Amino acid sequence: MQIPSHLIDKQTWEKVLYFIALNDIPPPYLLVNKDVVINKIKQIGKGVEGSKVYYAVKANPDIEILKLLAEMDIGFEIASEGELELLKSLSVGPERIISSNPIKTFKFLISARDYGVRYFAYDSYSEVDKIARYVPNSLVYVRLSVSNEGSEWPLSKKFGVEIDEAANLLEYARDKGLLPVGLTFHVGSQCNNAYNWHMAIEKSRELWDLARQRGIDLKVLNIGGGYPIRYTKDVVGIESIEKRISQSIRQKFPEGVEVFIEPGRAVVGDAGVFVSTVIGKAKRGNEDWLYIDVGVFNGLMESIGGIKYSYVVGSRNPVKRWTIAGPSCDSFDVIDKEVELPEPDIGNRILILSSGAYTISYASEFNGFSIPKTIVI
Ligand SMILES: *Cc1c(COP(=O)(O)O)cnc(C)c1O
Repeated sequence: MQIPSHLIDKQTWEKVLYFIALNDIPPPYLLVNKDVVINKIKQIGKGVEGSKVYYAVKANPDIEILKLLAEMDIGFEIASEGELELLKSLSVGPERIISSNPIKTFKFLISARDYGVRYFAYDSYSEVDKIARYVPNSLVYVRLSVSNEGSEWPLSKKFGVEIDEAANLLEYARDKGLLPVGLTFHVGSQCNNAYNWHMAIEKSRELWDLARQRGIDLKVLNIGGGYPIRYTKDVVGIESIEKRISQSIRQKFPEGVEVFIEPGRAVVGDAGVFVSTVIGKAKRGNEDWLYIDVGVFNGLMESIGGIKYSYVVGSRNPVKRWTIAGPSCDSFDVIDKEVELPEPDIGNRILILSSGAYTISYASEFNGFSIPKTIVI
């Protein structure tokens, strides 16, 4: 196979081919290059003064990956008792854990309290009541709604409040005995628009000032996740995004501020490659269909929300335009359309690049197809 060098780094490509050549493991499985994960962690936050990184566990909670990250000097962002259990099993201390899910379950709040987790996001009055009751004296930060324009996986509708409401919520938290320490936002996942962070930071400053007028001094600016990775085309690099963020922070917060960053996709996404098999081909009307053993339900869920992956096959046949579908009987299980690929044979391997984030963590055993194993290489 020829290296698609514009889509994958050379070292990951070589490791993947080497692994496939030396191991007779039946696909599908997900290979994750640990060197990419380590390098990403080293890079993220480097360009933002006073920042701390909290890996968003939901992107990929594989225990080997978490173990790797636990050995590094970073924290973790979680939303459930299940994610907490994973971190506990690796002896990650509670001071390294925060939760930015604005609506938490009772069970999670209780387990977080028992373990000693102290930082929680919220964006409603009822959540303040819940946190005050289950985890009194918590440090809380309010989720501000910001533009998600230009992000491929927008999150803005489900959570976040406007500035006035946010200020009221900070006051309400204080009145209920919690410690309002800051604010958070999420510009949308796979955000290719560096300007979003600038606008969000500008908006954060407004809330900061309003809170101060009401006697609340904030100190934590949690800028969430959203850093993009390369799927089918180049994206803004982490370095230039952070340059932009850091400029905005210096301009808007000259007094200095504690910055939290919660990357998920950018840490593990392009470290991963699915190794899958071509299991069927069919002509339906004018369309050529290709069926593979990883689909929407057992790994490629994000494809129905608009994420387009890159595929590689070893074939030298003429290129055709394919509709690619997964193995289940459900008509939702269509991963992509109009994908140009040389025609593979049945039984050939097909690689799916940049598939380390939001794949296995979304996967189910729907229709009896097992969830692909993750192998860290
Ligand atoms: C999912 C999530 C993240 C990670 O987002 P990415 O786009 O994967 O970097 C960070 N913070 C919160 C609160 C999230 O829900």
